[in-house]
Amino acid sequence: MHLTRLIYASVALQDMPYHQVMSILQRAQVANEQRGITGLLCFGGGRFLQALEGDRNVVNRLYTRIVQDTRHDFCTILQYEPIATRRFADWSMKLIGLDDQPTAHRRALVLRHCGQAEFSPLEMNGEEASALLVALADEFRASP
Ligand code: FAD
Repeated sequence: MHLTRLIYASVALQDMPYHQVMSILQRAQVANEQRGITGLLCFGGGRFLQALEGDRNVVNRLYTRIVQDTRHDFCTILQYEPIATRRFADWSMKLIGLDDQPTAHRRALVLRHCGQAEFSPLEMNGEEASALLVALADEFRASP
């Protein structure tokens, strides 16, 4: 197995309601579990930032399907690399909604890791995107 992590950003269809994001998540969790995929999906301000970890071929096939999904657009790979260990091993897919978090806290987190005032994942480089996802995962583990 070639363990791989892919991080991409995308833009949700306009005014995507939160229940639609939840519906994507619930189906993804079941399918990912079956395929040995783990990861984190971050949603805020109509933007997605997602990490997918698993076997290289499985990750590639999944990303190809995700890119074709009409519920979002402008899919952009920010990072793609072989990994020795998973960073999001606890979750077949975890959703973290940034819109739920207090504005000041969200701004501070995004500013610290990405140098941005607002969550704008398409503007991030791979290191920034990865650092933000890891920080969000650590925060969630500390106080779920
Ligand atoms: P089908 O279920 O046959 O769907 C084909 C197309 O129909 C989809 O691409 C989409 O354009 C449309 N569609 C399907 N369901 C709906 C719906 N309820 N409402 C509107 N349009 C719909 N899948 C995973 O397995 N794992 C993931 O981690 C994952 N992450 C995702 C992250 C994001 C941001 C998005 C938008 C989607 C994600 N998906 C994920 C879903 C993925 O894009 C595919 O829909 C899923 O893998 C099923 O693939 P399929 O070829 O069987 O598509």
